[in-house]
Amino acid sequence: MPPVFRFAPSPNGYLHLGHALSALLNADMARAAGGRLLLRIEDIDATRCRPEFEAAIYQDLAWLGLHWEQPVRRQSEHYDDYRSALARLEALDLVYPSFESRTEIARLVEMRGGNWPRDPDGAPLYPGDAKSMSATERARRMAAGEPYALRLDMQTALKRVGPLTWNETGAGPAGEIGTIAADPSAWGDVILARKETPTSYHLAVAVDDAAQGVTDVVRGCDLFHSTGVHRLLQALLGLPQPRYHHHRLILDADGRKLSKSTFATGLRELRAQGAGMAAIRQRVGLD
Ligand code: GLU
Repeated sequence: MPPVFRFAPSPNGYLHLGHALSALLNADMARAAGGRLLLRIEDIDATRCRPEFEAAIYQDLAWLGLHWEQPVRRQSEHYDDYRSALARLEALDLVYPSFESRTEIARLVEMRGGNWPRDPDGAPLYPGDAKSMSATERARRMAAGEPYALRLDMQTALKRVGPLTWNETGAGPAGEIGTIAADPSAWGDVILARKETPTSYHLAVAVDDAAQGVTDVVRGCDLFHSTGVHRLLQALLGLPQPRYHHHRLILDADGRKLSKSTFATGLRELRAQGAGMAAIRQRVGLD
């Protein structure tokens, strides 16, 4: 069976040089391994994703010379898959609703004082207040239409699966390589779904990589630590584990990660200025 690679952008802005590196690296590695290349549109965030950004992704990738298989998987068309994965985690008693807004969580954390732990992206860990809420109270608040997030009970989940690792052929932010010890607990009780969206990034990625038979995940090292959560979800749901290759990020002149609003590095802008594929490969350090 040939290896399966995927590039998985979110259509919430136009692609930039960082995406070009990721897409080209996926294509290069798939070609070198005699593998397949899939494209996945990660469009679960209905407030930020737009059809024109999705159309631009196809244009930009075709301009980069990429060929990908059809049909393209769009996450918004697979909510039933995420619902059934969530139901399996619920059946294991690993999921609970929390009702606090981000501001309320910040206040709860402040009340705890001291150095409250933060996740690898810098957000405070959820303090777990809703975990002890009675079933009746949960049902009452959900029936009343309150917004909620469904969270993974991390400690209980970890007890079910024991220590997990993954095989890293790229490098983490601190140069980690080889067999990596997964540390999903660094994220606390992560969100798996919300009232209006039956999945989160983490759940959708774990479900989709398995559904698409992905064997090789090649993506930016800003997602290195998220891999711990993906490994945990794979273990809980009985899904196979891919190999992981996290690549360096393209930084702007100030050493910051590129954002989708930076015109100087947008692929559309560079194309309009007459840049060719060779120039892009060179700018992202691939030749
Ligand atoms: N959709 C994510 C992004 O655009 C990438 C997810 C992944 O490669 O696992 O950052």
